[in-house]
Amino acid sequence: MTASKACDQIADQLPEFLAGRVSEADDERIRKHLEVCADCRKRANAVSLLQQTPIPRPDPDRWDGFVDGVVHRADRRHRKERTIQVALVVLAAVIVVGVLVYVVVF
Ligand SMILES: [Zn+2]
Repeated sequence: MTASKACDQIADQLPEFLAGRVSEADDERIRKHLEVCADCRKRANAVSLLQQTPIPRPDPDRWDGFVDGVVHRADRRHRKERTIQVALVVLAAVIVVGVLVYVVVF
């Protein structure tokens, strides 16, 4: 077996090894390999760190009202855009009336 094949096999077994769920023979073989292989030691440390890192769970309350919040924000934006459109139409009408009054009067 080449060194890299041994390393691949060790890498596959590292999570189970670190959790103490390998046979005595595998445990012995993996420990001996880790003594002589710096790459696998490094990988074992990384896997160990990952196993100790708690996985954050999303806050269930965060999703309460999430859809309602999105709908509310979209609705508010729509109303704001509508208000701007109405204001522009009113402004254009005032300008047109102003020009007509100017043309008729002067
Ligand atoms: Zn190795």
